[in-house]
Amino acid sequence: MKKRLFTPGPTPIPETVMLKMAEPIIHHRNPEFNEILTRVNKNLQYLFQTEQPVLTLTCSGTGGVEATFVSLFSPGDTIIAANGGKFGERWVKMPKVYGMNVVEIKVEWGKAPTEEQVLAALKANPDTKAVYLVHSETSTGAATDVKSLAKLIRENSNALVCVDGITAVGAHEVRFDEWGIDVCVTGSQKGLMIPPGLAFVAVSKRAVEAMNSSKLPKFYFDLKKALKSYADNDTPWTPAVSLVVGVDAALQKIREEGIENVWARHRRLANAIRAGVVGAGLKLFSEFPSFAVTPVWVPEGVEWKQFNKILKGKYGITIAGGQDDFTGKIFRISHLGYYDELDMITMIGALEMTLKECGHVFEMGSGVKATLNALMAK
Ligand SMILES: *Cc1c(COP(=O)(O)O)cnc(C)c1O
Repeated sequence: MKKRLFTPGPTPIPETVMLKMAEPIIHHRNPEFNEILTRVNKNLQYLFQTEQPVLTLTCSGTGGVEATFVSLFSPGDTIIAANGGKFGERWVKMPKVYGMNVVEIKVEWGKAPTEEQVLAALKANPDTKAVYLVHSETSTGAATDVKSLAKLIRENSNALVCVDGITAVGAHEVRFDEWGIDVCVTGSQKGLMIPPGLAFVAVSKRAVEAMNSSKLPKFYFDLKKALKSYADNDTPWTPAVSLVVGVDAALQKIREEGIENVWARHRRLANAIRAGVVGAGLKLFSEFPSFAVTPVWVPEGVEWKQFNKILKGKYGITIAGGQDDFTGKIFRISHLGYYDELDMITMIGALEMTLKECGHVFEMGSGVKATLNALMAK
């Protein structure tokens, strides 16, 4: 059976990238690796649209965010974190562990934080050191307007604008410098199309300055150490060499396609999936759709476990379920990374056949037709 992954991390890996990673391993303290990392560093700046450093850490995305907390702040510092899903929730919990004072902006699942909410939190906490936003909340498929909020935060405070861009970078427009972002993190197994194990952290001048007064204890996840090595296109510790080789190949693919084209492709594929889902008579979950993942309500009369079992067992397709209160109530289809138009038709086709087997009443082919129409629309 041909297996197909439609999950928001890990995401499918291009064949050319897999082949690169299968080559004999090289040593990380030699010119060959230095050349690769030099190219990776340059291309990461292109990906984030920045002239600032983008640090490569050997850990998953969560480790990348943890590195920003321990490297930039001190116990007792106030940070604002917007929580509209599993990942927003994580950035409320994590800084508390480090003795920081966390002001939580509660956002209903499926929605995004508003300018009013962020402004009110800033006004009530004028000493705020940073605002953490999740650009694309993977658990709900909701996208945050980072561009507008970054402007608002800059105009109304000295707080750093810190972005969990883990399923946004490589899917949504992200302009680190132009938008005035101070910290943006992504992970290797999402828009970068390689296996899990690397995090990438872009840091502004203001973020680098914040590192000088940070008092939280750190050793391995010290971004100052990473910055020092970065200046020589090196890393402080042994990096995941094979993954760096992989991301080098993946970034070259992104460069060839062009970042604006990558964003446009994600928008087009997201729209095609949404059209297909609605065409098959299902309802979308999120009001502010992310281009990385589409959450869908499990239709009435269909049992999620049975649905998922057929989709996986008969058609080889893995999608993601709902989390927390939405377990069994929604499912999530990812279109982040290495996907094309025909993949979307495949996904909706399998969805329709599976729905039929589960007893959902609709006109077979109506979803695929809607997807085709969306793809053909100019
Ligand atoms: C996947 C994800 C994370 C966590 O990354 P890990 O690599 O699993 O540590 C954080 N935020 C968002 C939005 C994600 O999608």
